[in-house]
Amino acid sequence: MGYKVPFVNAVRNYELIKDEIDAAYREVMSRGDLIMRGQLRSFEQNLAKFVGTKFAVGLNSGYDALHLSLSATGIGPGDEVIVPAHTFVASCSAIVNAGATPVLVDVGKDFNINVDLIEPAITPRTKGLLPVHLSGWMADMPKVMEIAERHRLVVIEDACQSLGASINGKGAGAWGRAGCWSFYPFKILGGYGDGGAITTDDPEVALWVSRMRYNGEDRETGEYHGHGFTALLDNLQAAFLDVKLRHLPRWIVRRQEIAERYRTRLSDLPDLLLPHYDRPGFTHVYQNYTVRAKQGNAFSEHLKEHGVEVLTQFRKPYYKHAALRLTDRGFPETEALSREVCSLPMNVEITNDEVDYVISTVRQFYGKG
Ligand SMILES: *Cc1c(COP(=O)(O)O)cnc(C)c1O
Repeated sequence: MGYKVPFVNAVRNYELIKDEIDAAYREVMSRGDLIMRGQLRSFEQNLAKFVGTKFAVGLNSGYDALHLSLSATGIGPGDEVIVPAHTFVASCSAIVNAGATPVLVDVGKDFNINVDLIEPAITPRTKGLLPVHLSGWMADMPKVMEIAERHRLVVIEDACQSLGASINGKGAGAWGRAGCWSFYPFKILGGYGDGGAITTDDPEVALWVSRMRYNGEDRETGEYHGHGFTALLDNLQAAFLDVKLRHLPRWIVRRQEIAERYRTRLSDLPDLLLPHYDRPGFTHVYQNYTVRAKQGNAFSEHLKEHGVEVLTQFRKPYYKHAALRLTDRGFPETEALSREVCSLPMNVEITNDEVDYVISTVRQFYGKG
């Protein structure tokens, strides 16, 4: 692409851990361990331990984790599920494809669901809450759980962007009935293709999802327990993810260092809002470093023209896409931030010099170079 600082660098990331990845590949290939073998079980155990749940079930995507979690908890036709207006479309599509009706609510300054707007959106048909932990920063889960208990709602966490984040030491994905994970290559724990998982303390949810990912089959008895899906996490991906998971704690520290570097050198710019929030007990893992620039496209275009690859997700909110047939009830915060969002390069393979180049390019835009 020719960017001086790419958004991510998959080749450089591979080189950081090449020996371990190559060894994992050789082991899987030389044993012929392709489907539901030890590497998958090992990764599931390590993931559950990392998140702080009893079970993890490997799946082929974050989308399927959401869809299967909703169905596993009995959510389907006739039910409403509350979901933020600002998120990746899959959070909402999983609700629709599970047969339920999404009810969108606006987000707050931290890009996550505005918890004050949840109760006004609850109706007699509401069955679930689907908070999303965007960019590595968790939604206000103590409040979400309190509302859920009061109204007897199922909570499914879309934690696809927040592996390793926590509130008062309790990890993302360990609060609701199920936590949903994506190992899409550019997530904080990324495989080399699609991948996903759920984490849960509920043995029935774990069992149901582990059957449904394999066409509903109980592998011991051969009995089909429902019309299922083909949605397994491949053994090879599990082996790679297991390697990367070992590095994740150190990599999160590196992300936090980069965020701090951005913060110290960019926080004097009045037209730029940085993703640092003062909330005791919350830990940010910076899957993304998403700033809000008042100048919107002029800002992101300046960065791109000067060789810095940035993402502007999402300029067009998902509910504005006509084919999705969703109701735009007016979401002022989502509207405002969608014009302003810009994610700066944030990954473990970036060098400090590259971060400094991004910083000086931003400062140059504001005439403060
Ligand atoms: C990536 C992502 C998903 C979907 O994950 P896939 O593995 O791509 O299906 C869902 N929700 C959020 C918030 C995500 O970032």
